[in-house]
Amino acid sequence: MRFPLSMTAGLAGYIAKNKWRPRPEWQVDRSAHVDSSNPFRIIASGTRSRKPHPMINKRFPLVLMLEPLHACNLTCTGCGRIREYESTITQQLSLEQCLAAVEECGAPIVSICGGEPMLYAKLPELVRELVARNKTIYLCTNGMFIRKKLKDYSPAEKFFFNVHLDGMEKNHDIAVEKEGVFREAVEGIKAAKAAGFKVCTNTTIYRETDMAEIGELFEYLKPFDVDGHLVAPAYGYSAVNDREIFMTRDDVHEKFQAFDAIAAKHRVNTTPVYLDFLKGERDLPCTAWGNPTYNVKGWKGPCYLITDAHYKTFEELMTRTDWEAYGYGNDPRCEHCLMHCGYEPSAALGINSRFSDGFRMLSWMLG
Ligand code: SF4
Ligand code: SF4
Repeated sequence: MRFPLSMTAGLAGYIAKNKWRPRPEWQVDRSAHVDSSNPFRIIASGTRSRKPHPMINKRFPLVLMLEPLHACNLTCTGCGRIREYESTITQQLSLEQCLAAVEECGAPIVSICGGEPMLYAKLPELVRELVARNKTIYLCTNGMFIRKKLKDYSPAEKFFFNVHLDGMEKNHDIAVEKEGVFREAVEGIKAAKAAGFKVCTNTTIYRETDMAEIGELFEYLKPFDVDGHLVAPAYGYSAVNDREIFMTRDDVHEKFQAFDAIAAKHRVNTTPVYLDFLKGERDLPCTAWGNPTYNVKGWKGPCYLITDAHYKTFEELMTRTDWEAYGYGNDPRCEHCLMHCGYEPSAALGINSRFSDGFRMLSWMLG
């Protein structure tokens, strides 16, 4: 089974409850107030040029991206975080700030990222607190400290180490600009699995990625009984300088055509609906509010990738962002974005769903 039943049922219940009774304070329509404030907006004859968003008036968070710090032991080529937050790289959230953000947002899934979160001294305590709150936790790490710090953690049903691997040894080490990272990450995966932890991997697909190598990577990891693989295309947002490595929308569609054969053979945790979207076989709107980001500067709006503002409270992020102004066709900065932070929630929320989706999701979850 791909996920614990308690996790699947809990998530389905949370989504159903929020779709049925959305919190009115999060449904403010900002478009009337800020039409001219975003210089990137595409406005046809002074009016909106598109249909209302299918989730308008049903906004709620699904996954909190919690960044306790942006410091990292690596300098990966495609990383926007260490570049965008260079001026605050030595700052950290306190444990209390992290927990307050978790409470304020209420999302059932917390993805702890950064920077390298295993550099955060209070991380073991944070994980323990999140387990106690029954959250599903993805600890996103480059894997360099797993072996050294494993003793500080205890296995739990909904706690996953999510280890970043962008290819086999040679290409992964080139992407992270340091030799030996792949080997240490794999040793970390083995040690965590041997100690009873859940471990998944997270792979970013770049223009240069050979999809056959991703299949080879998953095959290589098979003997270690990894609990699943997440994949997503890289996106060249403004914080990253090296635009050569990023793909256009058409590039992504072409690249992911080859992924079905890999997904059929391995435990891929990316939802089938999102994979359809990556292949260009389905349209999804951006639901960036489903995946909010909190860090040392506050609540980052509108999304993990674009920063138009940082807000002090989650309420402000939800009510002061003109959500309908973003996404493909609305903002040129979103033109080639197919990132999971904008579109995986749309898949999970069942937007633009088809009759067969329920069955596909069920067989995928039980797969
Ligand atoms: S390990 Fe993660 S946070 Fe660190 S530089 Fe690489 S992508 Fe950025
Ligand atoms: S389309 Fe991508 S870049 Fe644009 S708001 Fe959504 S997640 Fe952010």
